[in-house]
Order: sequence, then structure tokens, then C-alpha cells
Amino acid sequence: MGYDLYNGSVGLSLFLAALDRAASTTTHGALTVAALRPLRQTLGDKRARTDLADSIGIGGMTGMGSLLQPLILLHRWLDDGGLLAMARQTAEAITPVRIEADSLYNIKSGSAGALLGLLALYRVDPADIWLDRARLCSRHLVRHCLTNASPDGAGVPAETGYRRLGYVGGHTGIACALLRGYAVIGEQEVLDAALGTLDAGRRALNDINEDRADRGAVRHVPGGADWCCGRLGIALAQIHCLRLGRTGTSNVSTCAQKEITAALDTIGRAEISPVDRVCCGNFGRVDGLLEASRLLGQHRYHQSAGSVAAHTLARADINGAFALFEGNQGKDFIHPGFYRGLSGIGYALLRLAQPKLPCVWSGGG
Ligand SMILES: [Zn+2]
Repeated sequence: MGYDLYNGSVGLSLFLAALDRAASTTTHGALTVAALRPLRQTLGDKRARTDLADSIGIGGMTGMGSLLQPLILLHRWLDDGGLLAMARQTAEAITPVRIEADSLYNIKSGSAGALLGLLALYRVDPADIWLDRARLCSRHLVRHCLTNASPDGAGVPAETGYRRLGYVGGHTGIACALLRGYAVIGEQEVLDAALGTLDAGRRALNDINEDRADRGAVRHVPGGADWCCGRLGIALAQIHCLRLGRTGTSNVSTCAQKEITAALDTIGRAEISPVDRVCCGNFGRVDGLLEASRLLGQHRYHQSAGSVAAHTLARADINGAFALFEGNQGKDFIHPGFYRGLSGIGYALLRLAQPKLPCVWSGGG
């Protein structure tokens, strides 16, 4: 097991600590701390920290950026100053050189994910260095994303060849990170890039839905209900756009409340997915609907999340296990990871019971 939030120990620790917090127990305290120990040792050793950053990159799900929000939450919940120090060590490894070298850009593995993590750290530790690095990430995204698509489609072409549209790996997540960046950094070109990127993804989605697009040119067709690659991620980016109060601009259609409402209602009524995990599965949908409910202050999306969870739990009861992978009912298969395993499912269930537990992939705030 690695350290990252996607499948590593920090996600497991986050779930265990959230469980204790929700249940007002300390039952899992020793295991939470033990699961973090190897990461603590690695971050405390400059050479090992450099090797880790070289190996996993700066991204917000599989890289150094993914460690920040969990470490900040764990610091708050466990009242352990050492965890905030670990977050600072992590952020130090998101160096200007690594940001400049990023060619993936997206939330999962690139500078959009690093940006969300740095913003989360800046909220609790408002030092100039974190803001400067967040600014570097946003400028890097502005400079590259609207003009360059990397050969494998991981970048964000402005108008053509849109091959990745989702939150995790493409347009939507980058737009969302830039919107969050603009709220703190406040540079007009960041907002322009965010709105342009979001609008490109949204128009591409409409083309797909209205059968005007060549589906073969698109990876991760975003017509699904999930947040990773689907419509829920776009709705969440649009909500962040709405919250910036920019609905009076020429981009009003991008962030139209009516469109967001229609999308969330459709997602809440959609059939449950064959997989249950947070990544591209039912508990990702639960988590995203809860985040929409929180951001919009509308309880009915909390109820939609509850309904998706109830259907999923009923199926898991019949099968005797959660379906972590398609075709695998998981009876003999335990995966503790956050996005593809049980700790993320557990965390989403805790959020249903206690909506104040933050959504870990949206960058907080
Ligand atoms: Zn996914």
C-alpha cells in the first residue's frame, strides 16, 4: 500500500479517524497513527521525501497534493501538530520545478490537484510560500491548458479534440481548481481560463448528449452520473462558478442554476452503477450529491444521496459485499483504499450521517 489518497494509507487513516470522530470513540486511534507512521518517516527524511515526490508527482489524487487535505483534517481531528508539519513538508516538495515540469495538468495527477491541496493548506497556514506555489500552479494551468493538448489527451484543448472531459482527468476538474484558485488569488486571467475551460467541457457534453460529437474521439464519455468523469463533476464546477457570483457575465449560461438543477435531479434519479466505490461508482455519486447539497444549501440533494446509498446498501446486503470492481462482487476481495476500496465507501457513509465531515476531493472550503 502506498501513501496517496487514491489507494494509499492516508485515505485509510482519514476514514478511521472520521469513524472515531463520528462515533465519539477512540477505538481506532492507535491504528490511525500506525497507518501514518511510514509516511511520517518518509516525509521527515529529506532524501526519502524527494524520492517520494519524484515517484508519485504532485497530483491531487495520486500525488503529493493528495496528502494535503487528509493531513490537514487529521491534524484538526487528532490535535497533533506533527500532522500539520507533515502537510508543510509535503507542500514543500511541490516545488516550482515540479510544477513547471507538469504535463498532465489534471486533478488526479497534475497541477490542478496540487493547486487544490495548496489552497487547503493556505487556509489553515496562511504563509506566503503556499500562496506563491498555488499561484504558480494556476499560472501553469492558464499558460498550457487552453492552448495545448498533450499527445495522450490529458491536457485541455480549447475547442477541438476534447478527449477528456471529466473532473478527475480533464476539463471539468481543471476548471474547478482554477475557480477555487481565482477565489483566493484573484487574477482575471485565471477566471477567464476557468470559465473558458468549463464552457468548453460543457459544450462538448451537450454535443455528446445531442449526438453531434464523435464519441470515438472522447475518452470517459461524461454522460454518466458520477463525479469522476460524468455530469456530476460538471455540475459541481458550475456550482463553484455560481458561488463566485459571476452569473451576471457573458458566461451566465455556463453556470445557469436551471442547468445545474436539471443535472442534479437526473443524477439523483439515475439507476445505480454496477460498481459501488467512490471512483466512478455509487458512493462517489453519494459524496458528490452531498457536496452539492452543502454548497447549494439544499437538503433535497442530501435526500438524493441517501436514496442512492440505500439502493446500493440493499444490493450489497443481497450480494454479501460491496461491488468494488465491475463483475466482482467482492466476497473474497478486501480493498482498503479510499477511491477504489472500502475506506472511501465508509467515509461517504459517515458523511451521510454527519454532513459536516468535509468532502475530501473538492478541495474543501
Ligand atoms: Zn473514477
